[in-house]
Amino acid sequence: MTLQTITILGATGSIGQSTIDVVLRHPDRFVVQALSGHRRMAELALAARQTAAKAVVVPDDASAQKFRQAWSIEQPLPDIRVGAQALVDTAKEEGVDTIMAAIVGIAGLPAVLAAAQAGKRVLLANKESLVAAGGLLMAAVQDNGATLLPIDSEHNAIFQCMPVCRQTGLSVHKAGVSRLVLTASGGPLRQWPLTDLPSVTPQQACAHPNWDMGQKISVDSATMLNKGLEVIEAHWLFAMSPEQIDVLIHPQSIVHSMVQYNDGSVLAQLGNPDMRTPIAHALGFPERLASGVDMLDLAAHGKLEFEPVEAQRYPCLELAYEAMRQGQSACITLNAANEVAVDAFLQGKIKYLDIARSVHATLNWHAQSTQVAINNLDDILAVDEAARAFARSCLQTSGLSIHRSA
Ligand code: NAD
Ligand code: MG
Repeated sequence: MTLQTITILGATGSIGQSTIDVVLRHPDRFVVQALSGHRRMAELALAARQTAAKAVVVPDDASAQKFRQAWSIEQPLPDIRVGAQALVDTAKEEGVDTIMAAIVGIAGLPAVLAAAQAGKRVLLANKESLVAAGGLLMAAVQDNGATLLPIDSEHNAIFQCMPVCRQTGLSVHKAGVSRLVLTASGGPLRQWPLTDLPSVTPQQACAHPNWDMGQKISVDSATMLNKGLEVIEAHWLFAMSPEQIDVLIHPQSIVHSMVQYNDGSVLAQLGNPDMRTPIAHALGFPERLASGVDMLDLAAHGKLEFEPVEAQRYPCLELAYEAMRQGQSACITLNAANEVAVDAFLQGKIKYLDIARSVHATLNWHAQSTQVAINNLDDILAVDEAARAFARSCLQTSGLSIHRSA
C-alpha cells in the first residue's frame, strides 16, 4: 500500500471535516501535509492537532495570531502560512500527492488551478472552480498529467457509473452513453406553497432535509442554483452537452445520479446521503476504503420517489442552462451574481426571491455587454469582478426588495 501525502484546503468546512474523518480512519494510508481555514481558527488548530498537519494556511496576520492562541500546547506549532499566495503555493507544494479542494466559491479557484498545473491528484469539491474555469481547468489537468476526481455526490456517482473510468480515472470513455441524469432532492422548500416563498428566511433555506452542508451550498440547494452549477460541472467533467444532461427530483437523496446507455440500460449509484462516501471513493480510487458511513438499508427506506422539476419554483436552474448556452463568461457571471446574492440573503439584506431576480438581471446585463475572450485566470477574475460589481449595484439600486437589517 502506498502512502499518500494530502493537503486539505477548506479543512474547517463541512467537506473538510468529513475528509479529516475519513483520513483519520486510515493512518496507514495518509499523511497530512497542510490544512487551510479562513475563519474558525480554534477548529483549524484542533484539526491540525488531530491530523498532525505540518503546515496551516490562514488568510491574514490576525488569524495567524488567533491560531497561535488556540494552539497553546506542548506540541511544536505547525508552519503557519499567511495569505492568498500562500494558499496557491501550498496547492502546488512539492512532495504532496493529493489536494482536497474544499474551499467554497470562486475564492478556491487559484489554488485548484495551481494544483492542476502542478500535476496533482485533485479531489474537487469546489464546483465553482469548474463553473467559472471549465475549459481552462480541464486543459490544465490534461496538459500537466493531473488527475481530477469529483467529490460532488452526483458527479462522483456518474463517475462510478461510467464505462471505463472505474479503473482509469477521468479519461472517460463515453462509448454507448446517451444521457446523464443528475438527481436533486429539491431542497427544504420543495413543498412550500409558492405564495410563501417571498418570506423564506436564511434559516429555513439552510434547513436541508437530507444533507448537512455549509450555508452557501445549502441556500443554493433551496434555489436549485446548485443543480445548475452541477449541470455545468457535469458538462466539463464528462464532456456531455447541456442537452444530454437531465435533472430529476428525488426527495430521498439515495440515488445520487444515473448514466443512461443507448441500449436502454441505466446505471445508478446509491448510498446514504453522507459525503464521506464520495470522499472515501476519491481518496482510495481505484481501491475502496471504509468511510464510516452506515450501509444502505433499502427495506427501511421502503420507497424511492422521482418527479420532474417544477420550473416556476426553481427559476435558477433554467438560468444555469441559459448561461451554458451563452458560454464561459456567462457561467462566470452566473456564479459571481449568485455568490453576491446568497451572501446578501444570508446577511438579511435581501429577500429569498431576490436571489433569482438579481442573478437573472446580471445575466441579462452580461448578454448585452461586450464579450471578452477567456484565456487565463486573470480574464476569469476580471469577468467575475465586473459581474459582482453589477450584481451589488443591482441589489442596492434596482427595484429589488431590499429590507435592511436592523
Ligand atoms: P463550508 O462553508 O462548510 O466550508 C468552506 C471552507 O472554505 C471553510 O474551510 C472556509 O474556511 C473556507 N473558505 C471560505 N471562504 C474562503 C476564502 N475566501 N478563502 C479561502 N478559504 C475560504 O462549505 P462546504 O459545504 O464544505 O463546501 C465546500 C465546497 O464543496 C463548495 O464548493 C461546495 O459547493 C462543495 N460541496 C459541498 C458539499 C457538502 O455536502 N457540504 C457537497 C458537494 C459539494
Ligand atoms: Mg451535489
